[in-house]
Amino acid sequence: MRLRYPSPMRLLIVEDDEVLADSLVRAMRAAGYATDHAGDGELALALLRDGGFDLAILDLGLPRLDGLEVLRRLRGLRLPTPVILLTARDRVEDRVRGLDLGADDYLTKPFSLAELEARARALLRRGQGGQPLLCCGDLSYDTTVRQAFVSGQPLELSSRELSVLETMLLRQGKAVSKEALIESLCTYGEEMTPNAIEVYVHRLRRKLEPAGVGIRTLRGLGYLMDNAPDAP
Ligand code: CA
Repeated sequence: MRLRYPSPMRLLIVEDDEVLADSLVRAMRAAGYATDHAGDGELALALLRDGGFDLAILDLGLPRLDGLEVLRRLRGLRLPTPVILLTARDRVEDRVRGLDLGADDYLTKPFSLAELEARARALLRRGQGGQPLLCCGDLSYDTTVRQAFVSGQPLELSSRELSVLETMLLRQGKAVSKEALIESLCTYGEEMTPNAIEVYVHRLRRKLEPAGVGIRTLRGLGYLMDNAPDAP
């Protein structure tokens, strides 16, 4: 199943940490979203109020206006833009308050870009009335609970293998470079070598064989996932 939108979905990243914001913006643009960035709460609220965004990814600790206040005012204006909160691991009360205020989902820092992409896609599809299942051959993948199935049976995957699978499934039939895989796999600030990627791909390839799903190595280009019967 390939996902095609008539026009790119518009995302707003609200994050004051410039390095993190930059990596989020680059990843979401690479995933095909028209992505804008706001580094403080006031700007974020102004941009969201103008409308046109399909999703906001909202950090909580922000200058000028904190994330919970942005969310409270947004919902006070009856703006239904879906919101994913970025929260710190030790701030459970913020998470609860955020969900009470009308956030749709949250991610705890540090998170992988693949996980953010999967959550974003699930929310965007929900907004479009779609279903959160990605399929290839006898493989199906539920993006909301992050579980893969082969012929309906749950498939055991490590969290790294899961991230590789998500990234490859979302770009099914297209070449995915090692660099793109590293970028989507790594939690912000983490390092990973191309050799490590080869190991995860190798393991995943073996696990996907029974589903008739192949991951081909394209010399110089990266990898391609499909269910072509002659995949080497
Ligand atoms: Ca922050």
